[in-house]
Amino acid sequence: DRQQRPDYLSGLNPEQAEAVESLDGPVLVLAGAGTGKTRVLTTRIAHILSTGRAFPSQILSVTFTNKAAREMKERIGVLVGHAVEGMPWLGTFHSIGVKLLRRHAELVGLRSDFTILDTDDVIRLIKQIIQAEGLDDKRWPAKQFAGMIDGWKNKGLDPAQIPEGDARAFANGKGRELYAAYQNRLRTLNACDFGDLLLHPIRMFRSNPDVLKEYHDKFRYILVDEYQDTNTAQYMWLRLLAQRPKGVPQNVCCVGDDDQSIYGWRGAEVDNILRFEKDFPGAKVIKLERNYRSTEHILGAAAHLIAHNEGRLGKTLFTERTDPDDEKVQVHAAWDSEEEARAVGEEIEQLQRKSHKLNDMAILVRASFQMREFEDRFVTLGLNYRVIGGPRFYERLEIRDAMAYFRLVCQPADDLAFERIVNTPKRGLGDTTVRTLHDYARARDIPMLAAATDIIGTDELKPKARKGLFDVVADFRRWQGLLETTPHTELAEQILDESGYTAMWQNDKSAEAPGRLENLKELIRSMEAFESLRGFLEHVSLVMDAEQNENLDAVSIMTLHSAKGLEFDTVFLPGWEEGLFPHQRALDEGGRSGLEEERRLAYVGITRAKHRCHIWFVSNRRIHGLWQSTLPSRFLDELPITHVDVAESEQSYGGYGRGGYGQSRFDKADPFQNNYSTPGWKRAQQNRSDATRDNWGSRSGHAVERIGYGESGPRSRTIDGE
Ligand code: ATP
Ligand code: MG
Repeated sequence: DRQQRPDYLSGLNPEQAEAVESLDGPVLVLAGAGTGKTRVLTTRIAHILSTGRAFPSQILSVTFTNKAAREMKERIGVLVGHAVEGMPWLGTFHSIGVKLLRRHAELVGLRSDFTILDTDDVIRLIKQIIQAEGLDDKRWPAKQFAGMIDGWKNKGLDPAQIPEGDARAFANGKGRELYAAYQNRLRTLNACDFGDLLLHPIRMFRSNPDVLKEYHDKFRYILVDEYQDTNTAQYMWLRLLAQRPKGVPQNVCCVGDDDQSIYGWRGAEVDNILRFEKDFPGAKVIKLERNYRSTEHILGAAAHLIAHNEGRLGKTLFTERTDPDDEKVQVHAAWDSEEEARAVGEEIEQLQRKSHKLNDMAILVRASFQMREFEDRFVTLGLNYRVIGGPRFYERLEIRDAMAYFRLVCQPADDLAFERIVNTPKRGLGDTTVRTLHDYARARDIPMLAAATDIIGTDELKPKARKGLFDVVADFRRWQGLLETTPHTELAEQILDESGYTAMWQNDKSAEAPGRLENLKELIRSMEAFESLRGFLEHVSLVMDAEQNENLDAVSIMTLHSAKGLEFDTVFLPGWEEGLFPHQRALDEGGRSGLEEERRLAYVGITRAKHRCHIWFVSNRRIHGLWQSTLPSRFLDELPITHVDVAESEQSYGGYGRGGYGQSRFDKADPFQNNYSTPGWKRAQQNRSDATRDNWGSRSGHAVERIGYGESGPRSRTIDGE
């Protein structure tokens, strides 16, 4: 009877309602972008809660980012009509993993106060292990091995389980040994890396059926968003928790879209979608076809593009958002990335003058180095922006140093933190001293800070080093003593002052020093929201979302990878050029799969837009410090003429060459008419990959410069999806 249906159900279409109300037994929702998958999950939780089928603590709900988890919680509150008291098990795979591990650390050989290492720490640690094996770390780079370990962990493999070929591929067949040594070292340090946050719980559940049973009883409902991007380890984890003995309903609901699988490079397995029906027999599979997000033009463009992929499950999408005033997807050209940023800035200001909110606009880039140009431009214009998942505040040098101090105060066994700061600022404790300490600690199997405490009573060190070390040990003792009594922000400030760290930057005459001091101040400020130093450290290791100025009206800048699941009124997609998007790495791979993943990424980008989608490409781009002439992305060719407008930019086309491909489709008269027929264009396509690599020295006054952009491609990983 319709009358009695709660409000939150009445707004759903029949398929959505079915997905929400099918509470007993496995459900898989497989549907395209913007069809309300996330909304279904949120409503399903609201439904479970308000029908009294479970308490908030009995629902396990996995989102792709911490931000998504927070938003979901808020929305549930709105649907249920009151704030939801805790949803302790709503979070990312990793954050839920941390929680499980803190409770049961001893079952996998850790203590509950274990440290979570970031990528930087991991690489330092691996380097030490490689060196300790007497291997040349130039020949066998730690970074490469870190990548291999990460890959194994994504597949759920312990050292004993890695394939022979993999084990042989590194360090003359020592791969397995090194991986095992790394795991041992982590245990000694009472630490784990990101992969362990998934693997340890799996190990723990497998070897402790009673603990697993406890969680089976606890979690009445399990829900997973962005299911297409789960990797093997996550899937194993999920299956352990969700599978029930025969006869007991397996109340697991996963929602996903195979066309939005964009983390294959990090081990995500689209095949998990297919495995679901096998592992959860009797699963109800629900398709949603109505898109509620985007205009017909945006959806049409995205659908046409993604149809170029072969490996698809295939699905229909339609929208009822059709308004003759809707603009088509706009394709713009610019001379170089500086002009691109300038033009995007102008468009944003124009929209702003028409009272569009900056919050409703986003710039989605393929590679994080593209961000800087926009940031610079926006600073000049005084436009507020926020970088989401970008170069993070917490990853800056001075912040890492400061955090190392805090970590060591809270966790005296944290040797990586110790090594990072023992001679920062300089205290006459050079490499020799550190090596002596290291050996001393290893021989006795104690942390380095404890070794330092011991060694100052001996004559193993030179007097100067001994004095320096004596001060360090005394400082940490004192700070540890204050941990429970002094307010944590005060203590943090005291640590930075008394250690001489603040003074180090005050005395530094470099151009960056003032900025670094500001960042340190900002760090202390950001702690105020937390109750303790420990709580803050945990926050930093968990939430690297970089959401400063949450309340400010600001344009969002982020990578396409981190834009998953989000939506904006206006979306700018710069850098659609061969070699950047699709990325050169995908092109070099040959094969279909890399390119298809790039295309899915383009699909994700376009489908983030509700009303306006503006795509840009430039004719010249500086990549790794070298100017290159570039060609428009092949994805532009794959957009349907009926839904796309090619906007002309006077500056870029008034007399400039066009990257060497002569007459092209981007003619004023009829932009797409020539699309597939102009010989010049075809020729250009054939020569494309050569031309992309073609460097040209100096042209139009652009000198060749070498500027390190750092890593291209998506950001190094964080605990979030990103
Ligand atoms: P993505 O694949 O990008 O993650 P999604 O399938 O999760 O998309 P949602 O984000 O849940 O889609 O929904 C897209 C938009 O459509 C949201 O703004 C949502 O509020 C809206 N929406 C979904 N279902 C309905 C509905 N039945 N009525 C009105 N609006 C809806
Ligand atoms: Mg979603």
